[in-house]
Amino acid sequence: MAYLKKSPWILHYDGSSCNGCDIEVLACLTPMYDVERFGIVNTGNPKHADILLITGSINEQNIEVVKNLYSQMPNPKVVVAIGICATSGGVFRECYNVMGGVDKVIPVDVYVPGCAARPESIIDGVVKALGILEQKKTEMDKKR
Ligand code: SF4
Repeated sequence: MAYLKKSPWILHYDGSSCNGCDIEVLACLTPMYDVERFGIVNTGNPKHADILLITGSINEQNIEVVKNLYSQMPNPKVVVAIGICATSGGVFRECYNVMGGVDKVIPVDVYVPGCAARPESIIDGVVKALGILEQKKTEMDKKR
């Protein structure tokens, strides 16, 4: 993993998850899995966030919220879709109100499989996101 110049700040949003994936995201923050060892800070404010961790599929209720959260995050930013619902709609993809995965509405950089996604897979996805965030920062710096 590339050297990180700042602590990445993470925003976690539960789009329409059954809470299974969210419990696993929260488990990553506990001392057992300890994502803070990567310098990660959990924030509730999209204007402070570098990485969006999102669970659940996209539907009529959350589409505007997801767009709004994403648009408030400063560039560069990275989106991690956690669990099969966020990836594709999962078992709910044919429901009348489900539009599909998160990439139906915003760009997704990392897909974490599983139902529920396991903490080890989520941490792997976050580490990939950190690498992508650094790449995006470097590309932005070159354009300045
Ligand atoms: S992927 Fe499975 S555990 Fe995660 S939100 Fe969907 S149904 Fe729940």
